[in-house]
Amino acid sequence: MKKEKITIIGAGLVGSMLAVRLCQLGYEVEIFERRSDIRKEGLVGGRSINLALSNRGIRSLKMIGMDTVADEHAIKMRGRMIHSLEGQLRLLSYSGRQGDFINSIGRGHLNELLLDKLSSYPNATIHFNQKCTNVDLNNNLVFFKNEEDSQISQLNFNKIIGTDGADSTLRKAIYQSLGTNNMDIHTEFLDHGYKELNIPATEKGDFAMDPNALHIWPRGDFMMIALPNLDRSFTVTLFLSNDQGEENFAKLESRQSVIDFFNKYFHDAIGLMPTFDRQFFNNPIGLLGTTKCSKWSFEDKALLMGDAAHPIVPFYGQGMNCGFEDCYYFSELLADQGGFSKDIFQLFENYRKPHSDAIADLAVDNFYEMRDRVNDIAFVKKAALEFKLEQNFPDYFSKYSMVTFREDMSYAEAMVRGRAQDNWLIDFCKKIDSIDGIDLVELKNNMAQKVNNF
Ligand SMILES: Cc1cc2nc3c(=O)[nH]c(=O)nc-3n(C[C@H](O)[C@H](O)[C@H](O)COP(=O)(O)OP(=O)(O)OC[C@H]3O[C@@H](n4cnc5c(N)ncnc54)[C@H](O)[C@@H]3O)c2cc1C
Repeated sequence: MKKEKITIIGAGLVGSMLAVRLCQLGYEVEIFERRSDIRKEGLVGGRSINLALSNRGIRSLKMIGMDTVADEHAIKMRGRMIHSLEGQLRLLSYSGRQGDFINSIGRGHLNELLLDKLSSYPNATIHFNQKCTNVDLNNNLVFFKNEEDSQISQLNFNKIIGTDGADSTLRKAIYQSLGTNNMDIHTEFLDHGYKELNIPATEKGDFAMDPNALHIWPRGDFMMIALPNLDRSFTVTLFLSNDQGEENFAKLESRQSVIDFFNKYFHDAIGLMPTFDRQFFNNPIGLLGTTKCSKWSFEDKALLMGDAAHPIVPFYGQGMNCGFEDCYYFSELLADQGGFSKDIFQLFENYRKPHSDAIADLAVDNFYEMRDRVNDIAFVKKAALEFKLEQNFPDYFSKYSMVTFREDMSYAEAMVRGRAQDNWLIDFCKKIDSIDGIDLVELKNNMAQKVNNF
């Protein structure tokens, strides 16, 4: 039996993966992307922007037969390398288990790999430079503007899936069709924005810092991070309040103020960034927000996935991983329902939303943890203790490990269990001087008695 045609808006990371999966399942897929083909244009802006890929995302890549992406195209990061104000370094491992790491991968490169895979299917049609401008859900019509020649076109669709990112046009169309009484969209922005900078490879062509770590310069109200790239550079991201607090982007107006700021807070990094002041003024400030929508679907016609459904702040490194996991569970649901059943969009929304809400909240929690708490004494003791617990007990997982390395556990479960563990352990660590000599078996048993569902 010939399967129906599926229209997808947005050939970013999630749209490309979804399209590949649907092609593999025999559907006819037509996908529309606003930008030109990045495989021809090279990386946007010529810069390497990278993302942390972890187990949930890797499982989805495996589902579509891209098993070797993390091994062949990413750099393993085994923990957070904390840079103190004085330039001292301290590695906080992500896990006490050998083999638990996250993977730094170029966003553009991963998108290219997914598009290459998609192009290999005869049942995929990819249109570039086609910006979706509106969707008429009542009449099954989608409208496009060609970004090169401004031509307007329209198309009839049967089922449409929006993977068109945080500012999704399909989301707006669903909202218009359902009305404010039936759909709630709530966006919360942090006071903080972000700016991307770059640490190039050294003159000898080496990494300027340890490449197998995610580097963090936690400075209380703000922080800077750096992830390695395959070309031996690092992508650096400064997270700073837009206009609040003692230090903020608004204050950094002059070249001298930027130099003074970096000298004061990131002294060990500026020597590695010869053009940081120029980069600072050339690169834009990005917004950081979480959007929660009460509806992701419209009847059996339209569905949102990835950032179009659930944009989150990047502090758990899970936005893409969560979007990839959407594809994994949608594929499972298709198998369960025997195809695009009448209810499949609603079922997907019901199942996934509690989990994307959970990772959205965890990501905000992690913002405070990364910029601030990694320097807190009780937190440092807790991290060291959890490292030992993970080394000694195969069934112990920290909250971070549950979110990042346990693709078999939902985000919502990881949040409930992880928060309960964290609270108990922080209380415990506040009461002790040192973690040396602690009876780990007794500690674990005590925690298990107090923490629900542990
Ligand atoms: C600073 C930062 C760091 C991050 N770090 C991580 C990380 O380490 N790990 C992680 O998992 N996630 C991370 N994320 C989140 C991750 O980038 C997103 O979750 C992920 O890109 C979502 O993929 P997507 O395909 O849903 O949306 P997008 O990547 O936004 O892709 C949407 C696509 O749709 C296209 N499009 C948009 N509008 C239209 C239209 N009207 N018509 C046609 N096409 C359209 C766009 O051009 C784009 O190609 C980070 C995000 C930020 C901002």
